[in-house]
Amino acid sequence: MTTSIPHHQNRHVFGPVPSRRLGISLGLDIIPYKTCSLDCLYCECGRTTDLTRERRRFFPPLELLEELRAALPAIPRLDFITFSGSGEPTLNSDLGWFIAEIKKVSLSPLAVLTNGTLLFRQDVRRDLLGADVVLPSLDAALAGSFARINQPCPGLDLEDIIAGLEAFRKEYAGKIWLEVFIVKGVNDGDADLAALQAALARIRPDKVQLNSLDRPPAYPGVEAADFALLERIRGQWPGLPVEIIQRARNREDIAAFSANFENSLLNTIRRRPLTLDDLVALTAKGRDELRRYLDILEREKRIQPVIEGGQIFYREWTATPPTR
Ligand code: SF4
Repeated sequence: MTTSIPHHQNRHVFGPVPSRRLGISLGLDIIPYKTCSLDCLYCECGRTTDLTRERRRFFPPLELLEELRAALPAIPRLDFITFSGSGEPTLNSDLGWFIAEIKKVSLSPLAVLTNGTLLFRQDVRRDLLGADVVLPSLDAALAGSFARINQPCPGLDLEDIIAGLEAFRKEYAGKIWLEVFIVKGVNDGDADLAALQAALARIRPDKVQLNSLDRPPAYPGVEAADFALLERIRGQWPGLPVEIIQRARNREDIAAFSANFENSLLNTIRRRPLTLDDLVALTAKGRDELRRYLDILEREKRIQPVIEGGQIFYREWTATPPTR
């Protein structure tokens, strides 16, 4: 292994962090905490305090570029630079300018995590055209479920949002990885799943990523969908490019779970840190199956992912995390 990557935590630039959906990702936060057009029940950043659909400038745009320029030279390799954070990035009216300017200073692919609610606006769609991957969300295609799970800003219309995503697909040459977040008992009924399937068929994302709760939600009583439910939904949507993002929660999530294999995996990682690819080569197991074992060991604080020399390694868990 080579030198560790320094961990940046400035006002707008954070990470790099190991991300399940984006590999090694340097985050850009361009929205004040918690400014969003939605107030999702499951939000892992807390409740929305500024519920708005008004686009505006939140800070002098050069601030972000200066922070990024200062951070980049110390980072050897990134899978993505990602607009994310604790609010909705398309609310920042400088987003298109940021994307164009970042492309001039970095060759890393650019990703934007968005709740997709403003894509009905042509200016928002135009701003996103320079991104390499756009990761919008769509959790419901029935108005009642949308209101319940996403608690939208007044004035947002679900059909406009779906039509906006569909229009964006036609205009945008990059990848669209659309996330559907499932909350048990809220958007997992047959009518909801059928409406979502029809909307997804219209939007034609490159991937549909099924996710559920991993950290404490903004509102109490929100229940995570278990793996079996997400697998069932995947089976109900044949023809859609569905993958499951949610982490395995327990050993029942692993078909033919083997305690012996888990122990030998742990012992191997204790001897030396290894990447997922190393583990695939060593164990001859598939990536999905291995990830489930790793999820459980990580949840139990027996191993941890760290970024070293531009790769994500799994190593034995230590109370004091190594510097990244
Ligand atoms: S859209 Fe994202 S940031 Fe906004 S409330 Fe929902 S989960 Fe949180």
